[in-house]
Amino acid sequence: MNGKQQGGTFIRKENGVFVFPGFCDVHVHFREPGFSYKETMVTGSRAAARGGYTAVCAMPNLNPVPDSAEHLAAEEELIRAAGGLVDIFPYGALTVGEKGMEAAELEKMAPRVIAFSDDGKGVQSESMMRSLMERCRKLGRVLAAHCEDESLVRGGYIHDGAYAAAHGHKGICSESEWGPIARDLKLAKETGCAYHVCHISCRESAELIRQAKKDGVDVTCETGPHYLLLDENDLQEDGHFRMNPPLRAKEDREALVEALLDGTIDMIATDHAPHSAEEKSRGLAGSAFGVVGLECAFPVLYTGLVKTGILTLERLVCLMSEAPRARFGIPLRPDDTCEWDLEEQYEIDPEEFLSMGKATPFAGQRVYGRCLKTVHAGRTVYENSSV
Ligand SMILES: [Zn+2]
Repeated sequence: MNGKQQGGTFIRKENGVFVFPGFCDVHVHFREPGFSYKETMVTGSRAAARGGYTAVCAMPNLNPVPDSAEHLAAEEELIRAAGGLVDIFPYGALTVGEKGMEAAELEKMAPRVIAFSDDGKGVQSESMMRSLMERCRKLGRVLAAHCEDESLVRGGYIHDGAYAAAHGHKGICSESEWGPIARDLKLAKETGCAYHVCHISCRESAELIRQAKKDGVDVTCETGPHYLLLDENDLQEDGHFRMNPPLRAKEDREALVEALLDGTIDMIATDHAPHSAEEKSRGLAGSAFGVVGLECAFPVLYTGLVKTGILTLERLVCLMSEAPRARFGIPLRPDDTCEWDLEEQYEIDPEEFLSMGKATPFAGQRVYGRCLKTVHAGRTVYENSSV
């Protein structure tokens, strides 16, 4: 067996109850400072704990954007005030205001951030990206890239495929994602930067990263549960199906599952991106981009990939716990655990979510796996009250 397929330590109790190492999500949006009406550090932490997570990395598309030591301090204060239900590691922004024009205070922020990213926006300029990679390499920090060529988006909001054509929607082509990835892989090879690609959604992205790994580039990548389990055939005329990147074609979903199995995809991150009910109520064409993920990630993945025999339980646990920690240098404490009843079957009901965001394309889906308890640093931070 390929070494990458191993990992995932857990304890099997009785009656289908398992104890796993606490999950770690390297891609969440907790929306503070700046957008407390969508989510707060406290509600995001509760949602994470309910989903079995004990560590998350918070993306910097905030107000103010953590692009300087001073702006980062505002976010750190909110993290401290949230009380440590789960560990929240902030990302520092790569550029001032995530505008891509001027580098952020990377050196000053480096000791206080988990990694650097302009998530929500792609760095459009190649020379800017090269210089950012050089600086991240010197600082020993991962550069996590949201890859999106803005010149190719052209007002699109779902995949530029059969569904968009049939229903008169504006599509986003796959090249808007894989184009920047191809550019960045070349830069990562030149600079030696530890490069991580956020939320890959299409076949070409997986192929490029697979080849780069063979060529010795220091690259890792993540994808989200929805890209592995849903595609454009599942689309409904509902804002709950609008996220960036979009759900792609069936061939893309299948290629991502293959990439997960052969180790090209290193980890699963949810891109938990809560918005208000109003912001998600304007259909596919008008809603905000983003869906929540923390509270249903493990059940949908367990049901869709493990129960169906595609992935082993050990491997899924590794992809959600050990693998992201290894890449981002987040230690796994022995007293960080989550306990699951894998035999309990139920329907995903977003009204039960502790997150302020309720929009998920998995609403109503029947799944296996209920989180019974999450322990962080030896303290019970979530307990299912119905037990
Ligand atoms: Zn993103």
